[in-house]
Amino acid sequence: MPGCTAPTKTALPSTGLSASRTLESRLSSWRGWQIRARCGDPLCPPNRLVCVGDMLSAWGDITVRDMTGRMRCSVCGQRAQSIVLLKGGTAGQVIHFVRGTAAL
Ligand SMILES: [Zn+2]
Repeated sequence: MPGCTAPTKTALPSTGLSASRTLESRLSSWRGWQIRARCGDPLCPPNRLVCVGDMLSAWGDITVRDMTGRMRCSVCGQRAQSIVLLKGGTAGQVIHFVRGTAAL
């Protein structure tokens, strides 16, 4: 087989920040976004969206990494396995994956 073509998967939506930079960024830089978290249990429904602004009020300006460590499933209380930042706009919804890529 000529060449070395690695199988390419569909690229995830990206806002230009690498995953590690996202984790080290401050929650305040995501003001206006919403967060959806999901545990690993397929029987749990998706958790409701939480506004970043509400988290800032509750937890202060922590890093995204700290935030992911505190997120828990509101149904079963397990630690969240998948976390995404969402932002709705006129051009559609922007999804930024923070941890995990499971369908929410
Ligand atoms: Zn759960």
